[in-house]
Amino acid sequence: MKQFKVGILGATGAVGQKFINLLQGHPWFTIAALGASERSAGKTYAEAANWIEAVELPEDVAAMTVTDCSPASMKGVDFVFSGLDASVATELEGDLARAGIPVISNAKNYRTHKHVPLLVPEVNADHTAMINAQDFDPSGKGFIVTNPNCVAVPLVMALKPLMDAYGIEAIAVTSLQSVSGAGYPGVPSLDIMGNVIPFIGGEEPKIASEPMKLLGSLSDDHTVTEAKFPIDATATRVPTIEGHLLTVKAKFTKRPGSADEIKQVLRSWKHPLTGLNLPSSPKNALKVYDDERFPQPRKNAYNENGMQVGVGRVRMLEFFDAGFVALGHNTCRGAAGVAILNAELLVHQGFIK
Ligand code: NAP
Repeated sequence: MKQFKVGILGATGAVGQKFINLLQGHPWFTIAALGASERSAGKTYAEAANWIEAVELPEDVAAMTVTDCSPASMKGVDFVFSGLDASVATELEGDLARAGIPVISNAKNYRTHKHVPLLVPEVNADHTAMINAQDFDPSGKGFIVTNPNCVAVPLVMALKPLMDAYGIEAIAVTSLQSVSGAGYPGVPSLDIMGNVIPFIGGEEPKIASEPMKLLGSLSDDHTVTEAKFPIDATATRVPTIEGHLLTVKAKFTKRPGSADEIKQVLRSWKHPLTGLNLPSSPKNALKVYDDERFPQPRKNAYNENGMQVGVGRVRMLEFFDAGFVALGHNTCRGAAGVAILNAELLVHQGFIK
């Protein structure tokens, strides 16, 4: 297997640090460049970053020199992962794609671009064909692929098998989002300790809109015909550290027969990564809990390296048809981990070579 040299943009941030952590010992990808702002460029990584991961900072990474995120500084890498702040991602990611370097991004900036895939590989692996219509780089080498918001990831993973089985009319979702989702330093401790904040700026529109592209179907012109159903979202911040818990209520086109039937649909989900053995692909992408006390962020968010989505409290409802809770690790499954899985799929499909 070819070894790929990767750069990380926004390497000093919360998502950048998760990339560094998850890429340790990766069988295909080796960290070759670390990019951040002018504030960090020229320093060693240990000097530039306030390391917040719950493992030791790897010594070889600590000694690397942080650069800026320009194509010149990323010269020599096969592709980059981006955990860039949205205020700078449009220009920096676009420059790299135009310079022939594939960009696998967490930032929101290109998620709605008509030829940029918004990708959760178990849900819409075929959407990578959109890359063929991108015009960042006439040679076709440079392109951009994005992953969605950290709430949209577990939401669509639970909804995809249910949509295929029953059709979806409407969804109501409330997210209980952990503090790591706000980056570092994030929410002041006096605001969040022993408290719940019933609003996260900019979050609810993304939770409502991104699943439409993810659950949409690819058209012949390499655009996506979006799914069409309303999602009413309430996004809240709670004092957990990692893992976003969602409470979901669904109105289906065809009412399921029972909660057990829904659990069976979720447990027997055959998704496009089944059997591919990609390095970051969890053996069991969706775990369905019968015990009503689970899933819980502190106990279950790190299942299968933070890449498994937990579903529990599956029950029939009166006004809606059914309800459940879903748990996804926000910086693994909802950010760096899904981006690494996206890159593995792109290698498998031959887009990164
Ligand atoms: P963060 O901790 O604030 O990190 C932001 C990163 O961007 C830092 O490395 C920072 O470098 C870099 N940066 C800022 N201005 C820059 C500039 N002018 N040029 C180059 N680099 C610059 O944020 P985060 O939580 O990691 O989030 C990163 C991105 O991922 C955001 O777009 C966010 O919306 C998205 N995301 C986050 C999560 C999550 O759970 N946290 C989940 C999904 C998606 P310096 O240290 O040098 O300032």
